Amino acid sequence: MPENEWVRIIPLGGLGEIGMNMFVVETTDDMIVIDAGLMFPEEEMLGIDLVIPDFSYLLEHREKVRGLILTHGHEDHTGSLPFLLKELPIPVYGTRLSLALAAEKIREQSLDADLREVAPREPFRLGGLQAECMRVCHSIPDGVGVALETPAGLIIHAGDFKFDPTPVDGKLTDYHKFAELGDRGVLVLLSDSTNALRPGFTPSERTVGQALEEIFRAARRRIVVACFASHIHRIQQVLDVAAGMGRKVAVHGKSMIANTRIGADMGYLRIPPGVLVRLDELRHLSPAETVIIATGSQGEPLSAIARIAAGEHKQIEITPGDTVVFSARVIPGNERSIARTINQLLRRGAEVVTEELAPVHVSGHPCQEELKLMLNLTRPKFFVPIHGEYRHRHHHARLAAAVGIDPEHIYLAENGDILEFTPDKGGIVGKVAGGRVFVDGKGVGDVGDAVLRERQHLARDGMVVVVVGLHRETRAVVAGPEIIARGFVHLQDQDALFDAARRVVTEVLTGASEEERGDLALLKENVKVALRRFIQKAFDRRPMILPVIVEMEGNPGA
Ligand SMILES: [Zn+2]
Ligand SMILES: [Zn+2]
Repeated sequence: MPENEWVRIIPLGGLGEIGMNMFVVETTDDMIVIDAGLMFPEEEMLGIDLVIPDFSYLLEHREKVRGLILTHGHEDHTGSLPFLLKELPIPVYGTRLSLALAAEKIREQSLDADLREVAPREPFRLGGLQAECMRVCHSIPDGVGVALETPAGLIIHAGDFKFDPTPVDGKLTDYHKFAELGDRGVLVLLSDSTNALRPGFTPSERTVGQALEEIFRAARRRIVVACFASHIHRIQQVLDVAAGMGRKVAVHGKSMIANTRIGADMGYLRIPPGVLVRLDELRHLSPAETVIIATGSQGEPLSAIARIAAGEHKQIEITPGDTVVFSARVIPGNERSIARTINQLLRRGAEVVTEELAPVHVSGHPCQEELKLMLNLTRPKFFVPIHGEYRHRHHHARLAAAVGIDPEHIYLAENGDILEFTPDKGGIVGKVAGGRVFVDGKGVGDVGDAVLRERQHLARDGMVVVVVGLHRETRAVVAGPEIIARGFVHLQDQDALFDAARRVVTEVLTGASEEERGDLALLKENVKVALRRFIQKAFDRRPMILPVIVEMEGNPGA
């Protein structure tokens, strides 16, 4: 076997979570990146705005990185692109809409980028490798899978896909191409595990249009539909159903307006003539003639729907008999904010329709039968389930074994693992620096796990600050101790416990040996330990304790 017949696949994100998808494909001479996504923080990540993958492996090998291919325009595949391009300005390849959406984000960060449009079934070169995109259906138009010819064999990243047999734009997942690649021989398949626990097939996006039609027909007053701004096909169906019933549509929310414009300008959205109106024109129309399509399907506090529900919207007021449709799935973690919004809408007399009550949403990801179909079309030698938590990937691995993939050839990898393949062998051969990087305000990576643990500690138990002034030479107590508590219990000056706590601190300081007095760090530690012990005993709590000892001039007798 020639020396260079190997390929490495290194997931930098997307395997510990649904989010921040990012893969590196590496050969002797080249490195190619597929996607650069972000994830939104989990509940315990206090104060964190975004989470992105650790790019250090790419930065260490910057001279080998030939470019990045986007599978589609969703945030979990494009969101960390500006952060990456800031450090590593490489060409970005993608289909027309994916690039247009990425370009918006890159422009917001005032970055320049080398964006190169590619079309499905048109091979292109990246360094020594040949790449080709295959069209797939998903909850955003213009999604693709990626095939890469490497010295070890053909690698397929299936993208986020479903096999919708009747897609809204008529553009099917490219069954033929996947089958043709399968005939040529696929070394490794990477495939979407999001719905690996769901049996059957994901229904066609068109079924949502039928459900919306029924709801619109029954509605007597205004209709508000909340969905994701990137779901152009969903927006299309709302527009079509509204137009068919003679209702006018106002588009509301910054990203909804931006994406509707991009979609229409680029031909992905066909706006029926005369159907769109501005939000301020609604007041001239009867509620029975209008539809509002808006962001806020996750109950995001600043979104249009949340403000309408809270009665804080300047132009839109919900009145009894209005219908509000949540045409989106509940993203885990958002249950409470969605529930709050729904409660408010119901109190105002609205009819609220969610996925539980009517088929107003379908997934953009493949269910079990579709996952098996992808495996059967491509018949890979090795299989790596991706895009999911461990449980999703675990079940996807079982499906693969069920259709005849050798269980020894299925890898449940973790972010940072180095998967190495030759034409007949595969395995996890090592690990690179990988993991989650927290973005907090302008800071990228300066908030680590230690800071998060502090934030969790503060949030859970509060904080007690003790401030004391010691004489510069004698180290006698000349000011304080003052005790300030935040988020702990409300300590009052007159509280006996407060006095007792102060006494504990004073005792430590006056009882300190000559040597201890000379060492402020040691004094602080002793104060902390004594106070912690006291608070634990008196209150049975463990707040964060922060001793502040300052040296002062002054008369120890004062
Ligand atoms: Zn997606
Ligand atoms: Zn995704």
